[in-house]
Amino acid sequence: MSRWVYDFADGSKDMRELLGGKGSGMAEMTRVLGAERVPAGFTITTEACVQYMRNDRTEPDGMADQVAEAITRLEEHSGKRLGDTEDPLLVSVRSGARESMPGMLDTVLNLGLSDESVQGLVRTTGNERFAWDSYRRFVQMFGNVSRGIAGERFEDAIKAAKSQRDVTEDTDLDVDALKELTQTFKDIYREETGDDFPQDPSEQLRLSIRAVFDSWAGERAIAYRRLNRIPDDWGTAVNVQQMVFGNKGDTSGSGVAFSRDEVTGAPEPSGDFLPNAQGEDVVSGVRTPRDIAEIRDWLPEVHAELLEILGTLERHYRNMQDTEFTVEEGRLYMLQTRNAKRPAQAAVRFAVDAVKEQLLSREEALATIDPSTLDALLHPTFDPQADFNVLATGVAASPGAAKGAVVFSAADAVAAADEGRDVILVRPFTDAEDVAGFHAAKGILTSEGGKASHAALVARGMGRPAVVGADAIVIDLAAKTITVNGANGGVLHEGDQIAIDGTKGCVTVDDVPLVEAHVDENFDQVLTWADEIRTLGVRTNADTPEDARRARQLGAEGIGLCRTEHMFMAEDRQPKMRAMIMANTREARKEALAELLPLQQEDFEGLFEAMAGLPVTVRLLDPPLHEFLPNLPDLAAHVERARIEVSDDLDDLEILLERVQEISEENPMLGTRGCRLGILYPEIYEMQVHAILRAAKAAEEPPHPEIMIPLVNYEHEIELMRELVVGVGDQEGLTVGEDYTVGTMIELPRACFVADRIAAFADFFSFGTNDLTQTALGFSRDDVESKFVPTYMERKIIDRSPFETIDKPGVGWLVRLGAWVGREAHPGLKLGICGEHGGDPESIEFFHMAGLDYVSCSPFRVPIARIAAAQAQITHPHGGWE
Ligand code: ADP
Ligand code: MG
Ligand code: MG
Repeated sequence: MSRWVYDFADGSKDMRELLGGKGSGMAEMTRVLGAERVPAGFTITTEACVQYMRNDRTEPDGMADQVAEAITRLEEHSGKRLGDTEDPLLVSVRSGARESMPGMLDTVLNLGLSDESVQGLVRTTGNERFAWDSYRRFVQMFGNVSRGIAGERFEDAIKAAKSQRDVTEDTDLDVDALKELTQTFKDIYREETGDDFPQDPSEQLRLSIRAVFDSWAGERAIAYRRLNRIPDDWGTAVNVQQMVFGNKGDTSGSGVAFSRDEVTGAPEPSGDFLPNAQGEDVVSGVRTPRDIAEIRDWLPEVHAELLEILGTLERHYRNMQDTEFTVEEGRLYMLQTRNAKRPAQAAVRFAVDAVKEQLLSREEALATIDPSTLDALLHPTFDPQADFNVLATGVAASPGAAKGAVVFSAADAVAAADEGRDVILVRPFTDAEDVAGFHAAKGILTSEGGKASHAALVARGMGRPAVVGADAIVIDLAAKTITVNGANGGVLHEGDQIAIDGTKGCVTVDDVPLVEAHVDENFDQVLTWADEIRTLGVRTNADTPEDARRARQLGAEGIGLCRTEHMFMAEDRQPKMRAMIMANTREARKEALAELLPLQQEDFEGLFEAMAGLPVTVRLLDPPLHEFLPNLPDLAAHVERARIEVSDDLDDLEILLERVQEISEENPMLGTRGCRLGILYPEIYEMQVHAILRAAKAAEEPPHPEIMIPLVNYEHEIELMRELVVGVGDQEGLTVGEDYTVGTMIELPRACFVADRIAAFADFFSFGTNDLTQTALGFSRDDVESKFVPTYMERKIIDRSPFETIDKPGVGWLVRLGAWVGREAHPGLKLGICGEHGGDPESIEFFHMAGLDYVSCSPFRVPIARIAAAQAQITHPHGGWE
């Protein structure tokens, strides 16, 4: 018989896959902190959930019995019985997947209360208010979670009760009000479901466990998993745990605490709590919480204990912790711990401090950083010199600054983003339904909630700047207005421009200039460690001196791809380029090229200066020539008009049209481009090589030019092109292999298969994984990303776009093959990659294992690639196969 249930006392942190993050955390805390710190309970495994889903939502054989036995053990341990009319045992039923999915899965508190057992709770606690408050919460959560009754139905009833009694806080409702409210809630339950609220605790438990399992397959959970790339077949565990009560009065409360400041990473613990409340009040952001530092004045012993526990947990997990706790009548209980999700600045600061404090080695510290979040460190902030009027201030919940037009719903944010407009999502508070809007918005602003609110958590997770709990503003969602109290007050409407600074926590309507972020001391330290560890080089893709300089500042060790076509697109070059393409004879073409040569040389001079002393890979002309001419339908229409108007330039236009028709192709992506151009029009490549080599000669500190031939399929293509380059080199008095090298871009499947033959004529390969992905998969990127990739992800044919993370078994295999075969034939062949994948941490890990020498990515991804490359080295010190 399979084992579906584990008591907390039997689990550990190494059983995360089976018990989920929360369950394994509870078990570990029970071991490390002692059983008296963690309310007892048990975990129903993630495997039980997976079976339940597979069997059409039926509990696996034996699960019900094992749960019943575990309940009996819990009853013996606590000396209370579920549903007892004298002294009832109450439990919480909590979800808990392998990876935390904040707020996405369901939890029910105070289970076991009924019309009868509530009397028992009144008797044993002597606290009638508390007992009824707990019961009404249970009906509310159970109704919402198990039967899908909208939360607002209950919230509205609470509001009505408060206004009827003329009080503002939930905590001001007295016993009678709470009794009445419980009845109202049960009436709502009957009205909405047609059933009476279940009074039998085993039935309550059975339904709640099912509801938690079901929440794994709920819409918002699925959407969250998609965004965060969490597999659908993991399932969630269910934790059943004896309740402790934060709502028992003035010496009780609930909160969340981080072992270090969760926004900045500073060594002081941080967090929020609410006196006389249960945990969901803190997280929902409905009441505005207090800082945990205030616990010191309130319950000094609890404060000291909490700090000590945070330190213990951090040392034990060797990572910054994010915990949940409850204080029941002056006794502290820990209810959750996990590695803290944190914004980049906190992640970086923690890594640096952890090494200083000798908590972690450099390698361990680096491994705690999620490189994909580092983007945020390169976010802009408000210009510190700028003068502006502060409209409102709030909690600096997620760093970075953003500007945009006000929108009030996730749907509006998504619509605006689709049209390419920048928006700030403004909500009183947020919940799971708003998550898509976070993705679409440049920043988030809420009027309620603290650092641990949903809005803050999600914004930090996504690297969106956020200001929360800006209580000087009143948001009216129906009227779509923001009313601002205070000196700079007024009313804002949908579409009005605002700016938020999530690093400082302020909001303004002024057009404050934003300044680009710079690499601070801590970030610099971490990057230096990464450089010491990594074996993979990091270069940048850059076509302009500005990009090259910026990338170099960010640590690029050269240019992995300079696309020369962009240089011809500049306004003063276009007419000359056109003249070249229009030329009828080779001679005429050469004349036009002669005019382009000095301009092209200048371009390279700028680039080489910025990259003095470093390798610069320059790709010779790659795109089909028609890209430099007007597009055919426009031109045809233009000619048509000119004919009717018998305009003067008709002749010229006709010639242009003829040429455009001549070179236009059905499928230019697979047409006359890349080295095919160089073979048809060698004079173009000759001119480019002259320009590159002359610029190199002119440089004060010469770079290492690497001349790259694109789109090679056959060894004779590269053979011919190498001959051409070397010929020019001879004319310039430069020696191949010393003053410059010649290589190719590997971006066609055939090239990977015959890499040994190609390698005979190449000093280096650079895998062009954008085109390689297109040609290996037969996907045209611009078409497929919007058309069928989303459906493919939904139907689980693929789990992400192959243009974002390299398709390891397919395209990745071609890369491995090309690298291996190429190096067999040509030991010392230099290998790099210059597709977009060069900035994607997961792909970088793959390239490291494939044995490449370097990755090349856009300038702003360079720091991310440096960290990712170091992490790849730490996890796979010998490269190899996955
Ligand atoms: P989530 O995953 O959404 O954070 P949890 O299962 O952690 O949901 O429950 C939310 C909150 O409910 C917890 O932070 C805690 O304050 C409260 N809670 C859960 N179980 C108990 C318990 N046994 N006793 C007291 N409070 C509890
Ligand atoms: Mg929790
Ligand atoms: Mg290409």
